[in-house]
Amino acid sequence: AAKRTRSGARLYEPRDDKSSAHHLSLTADLARAIRLDELTVQFQPKLDPTTGLVTGAEALARWRHPREGFISPDVFIPLAERSGLIRPLTLHVLKVALRQCAAWRRAGHDLHIAVNLSPNALHDSTLPDVVTRLLEQTGVPPASLTLEITESTLMADPTGGRKTLDRLRAIGVRLSIDDFGTGYSSLGRLRNLPINEVKIDKSFVQRLAEDHRDRAVVRSAIQLGHALDLDVVAEGVEDAATLEHLRREGCDLLQGYFISKPLAAADFAAWLVGRTSR
Ligand code: C2E
Ligand code: CA
Ligand code: CA
Ligand code: CA
Repeated sequence: AAKRTRSGARLYEPRDDKSSAHHLSLTADLARAIRLDELTVQFQPKLDPTTGLVTGAEALARWRHPREGFISPDVFIPLAERSGLIRPLTLHVLKVALRQCAAWRRAGHDLHIAVNLSPNALHDSTLPDVVTRLLEQTGVPPASLTLEITESTLMADPTGGRKTLDRLRAIGVRLSIDDFGTGYSSLGRLRNLPINEVKIDKSFVQRLAEDHRDRAVVRSAIQLGHALDLDVVAEGVEDAATLEHLRREGCDLLQGYFISKPLAAADFAAWLVGRTSR
């Protein structure tokens, strides 16, 4: 089930391995990983293309398994969802991310932090209280925390998570629709959601320079977002031409490998020097 990447790191490939015993043992390992801080968080910067300054970062969970090597979040997040571990995992990431954000702010960098919420998180009625407590403990202002929720999550369950979303908004936390463009939001529904931001999916952004259809989709997403008074973020910016195009189209924030890959906290701090408004 393991394959070597170019860098030599082992990569766990779920489709190769249908053994449920293996999944069970991975689930047990994940529970331990969350407890023992084996699960870490990387930070990918978000850039304001009009100023060239970094305004914040997205927190992305990382799991380095002692035997299997790095396991992709596309594997362990669904595993956590199915096994009831998503709550402790989400709280762990939130805590680490908010502490890091507080540390940046103490160092004089006025940065915000974005954390991903998985589908089941909106069914956890304790989430708003937990978020409130963590904001108080770390001193991060609510408006400096953005929670990213995928469009497909919101569309699959139009009413279920609404109460949680409203309570999170009431705290002053920002809400973003992640992977925007892949989930068939109706315009009416979009207008009525308590959101602050849409984040255009990278599948539309990556080939922007070559594909005029992707350019058309991205242009309408930006116009629609702005017409609804939302901030528009693009992910998957992989080259200079795409960055320049999105800047000209009025996209508010950009994220992608061309700006930076997700970085461990120490590397992020070094990378930041000279790139914030400080
Ligand atoms: P996402 O929220 O859409 O995150 C963006 C993914 O795109 C990340 O993959 C990021 O590393 C990758 N990426 C960033 N820039 C580029 C680029 O320029 N080109 C390309 N091709 N990819 C880029 P990652 O870290 O593997 O995460 C995958 C997904 O796993 C995330 O998608 C998110 O849905 C989920 N995830 C990650 N961390 C967490 C977490 O703490 N909680 C939850 N619930 N989900 C998480
Ligand atoms: Ca995200
Ligand atoms: Ca995304
Ligand atoms: Ca995604």
